[in-house]
Amino acid sequence: MRETSEKLPDAYMLLAPEQAQLMAMLVHIIGARRYLEIGTYTGYSALAVALAMPPDAEIITFEINPSFANCAREHWVQAAVAEKIEVRIGPALTELCALAASHQTPFDMALIDADKENIGAYYEHCLALLRPGGLVLIDNTLWSGLVCDETKNDPETAAIRAFNRMVHSDARVDMVMLPIGDGLTIARKI
Ligand code: SAH
Ligand code: CA
Repeated sequence: MRETSEKLPDAYMLLAPEQAQLMAMLVHIIGARRYLEIGTYTGYSALAVALAMPPDAEIITFEINPSFANCAREHWVQAAVAEKIEVRIGPALTELCALAASHQTPFDMALIDADKENIGAYYEHCLALLRPGGLVLIDNTLWSGLVCDETKNDPETAAIRAFNRMVHSDARVDMVMLPIGDGLTIARKI
């Protein structure tokens, strides 16, 4: 899967291998069975989580680009985890609202890894859909270090910087910001 993805122009979007290993480890540590993901790309993070979960796992992942979703599905079939994963194609914010209205059982873990301007809105939805003790993971919170450069105020950098400030003092969670990959924040719902 990584070899196929690395031929694509957007290969930089792939999660780092050590991030995927950490996610699988977290699945085992908290006994996660239900996983929600925003930003599928070629399916790498969902695959890492699916491989760590039991056969009755429920994984829902959102992707706006149908060709990425198709590529992801092919890989999940090869890895024999396709029956655990449902990819929903469309803008994640719309899909999240639909899910919130229909989904009864809370999720154990979520990953936010799509368009950065919506990071705060995605976080609110994920937190609401999570059980107490569940984890929200947010990728790219270091954003190549640009979040520390106050002269950089493009919409993506500004959104991640504002999110980092907010989550650091969010009394609804415990959090840690790990400098692996492009920065991975883990927030545990209290
Ligand atoms: N988690 C993936 C990487 C995701 S890259 C991995 O493990 O490798 C980010 C993805 O978010 C891209 O595939 C992009 O098409 C998708 N995306 C961007 N904006 C989106 C939106 N508004 N809704 C859903 N997906 C979106
Ligand atoms: Ca990412």
